[in-house]
Amino acid sequence: MTRIFIYSVLILLFFGGTFFGLGQEKYQITGIQYWSAPDHTRILLEVRGKASYKAFSLVNPNRFVVDFDNTTLAFPDRNITINDRIVNQIRFGNFGKNNLRVVFDVVQPVEPNIFFIENYPEKTQRLSINLFRPDLKNGAEKDRIAMLSEAKNKKVIVIDPGHGGEDPGAIGPGKTFEKDIVLNFARTLKKLFDEKTEYHALLTRSGDYFLPLKERTKIAEDCHSDLFISIHADSNHIKQNHGASVYCLSLKGASDEATRCLAEKENSSDLIVGVPFSENEDLNLTLLDLALTNNINSSLRYGVLILREIEKVHSVKFEKPKQAGFRVLKTAEMPSALIELGFISNPVEEKTLKQTDFQNRVGQAILAATDQFINLMAQKNTSPQNKELEAHVCASQP
Ligand SMILES: [Zn+2]
Repeated sequence: MTRIFIYSVLILLFFGGTFFGLGQEKYQITGIQYWSAPDHTRILLEVRGKASYKAFSLVNPNRFVVDFDNTTLAFPDRNITINDRIVNQIRFGNFGKNNLRVVFDVVQPVEPNIFFIENYPEKTQRLSINLFRPDLKNGAEKDRIAMLSEAKNKKVIVIDPGHGGEDPGAIGPGKTFEKDIVLNFARTLKKLFDEKTEYHALLTRSGDYFLPLKERTKIAEDCHSDLFISIHADSNHIKQNHGASVYCLSLKGASDEATRCLAEKENSSDLIVGVPFSENEDLNLTLLDLALTNNINSSLRYGVLILREIEKVHSVKFEKPKQAGFRVLKTAEMPSALIELGFISNPVEEKTLKQTDFQNRVGQAILAATDQFINLMAQKNTSPQNKELEAHVCASQP
């Protein structure tokens, strides 16, 4: 009798949620992260289960509200101060019997973009809430155009610090994030370029926020940039690996297995934040092929010069540029290189990468290589240095 009773309770518990409790499933918000971009604030809520929600705006004062059904809060912080240019603070409160209300106190009415990140493999889902301030939208673009009109007759260099926001890139044994190292380095490099009258440098991202790969290249294209430099830090399970490397775009696949793996890792950025890969890669590659071939050769020359200069101040992993299908380099308009500064997975190099002195030395090396490259491009292809580089580049191709 007792056994039958226990079975009955178990069966009731098992099926109860399915038959009698539809819509009664309990959800929980277990975590929150946020990042401030120039024109929007990105908030990521970790939700245990795919809770249904209603989102709407309120005025006087300006708020953006998300009401979750059958949801509780798993952490004690009920107010989070942000105070960027879009969101002042986030408040959590109970709403109705079982519902949770999340209120975003906003500076001005916002344009929201809110969605669950699809195909997220974990049980905890991620709700992406992007709040754009319309008057700041495209503001960064307008700033860039204004700056460019002042930078007439200068060479425009677009520096792209990889990763950002919820995509930390590689993480070192001392918990250093690649996204932080490359942003610091990019700022140093921009300063070095801007100190010289012949250059005007700008960054694709100026803070800790995510930028899809195609937007990074678009910035370079919109600015009619002369060069595009993407900055990264390498990682490998072999802790002893060290040194910088330079990668250029390849149309015909990766030059070796390690390069292919690295390209896959750097290309996975967009997937992390749920940006779909919508382009038809094959078609694009065919169309771009002709325009790119010439550009890739220029990029390889630039890569050789960068490595030669870096080698004077820091160790290099490979003496010649490697080639792979890096999405961020897929632009037909300007020579471009992806520089892996060193191995964040190497405990010694992880510390070195953070040092101001290291960043200045390597920055100066890239600047010196850029000077040489710009001079080279101004010369005829038949110049002795160009011919020597061409021979070097051809030897480095797979
Ligand atoms: Zn990276």
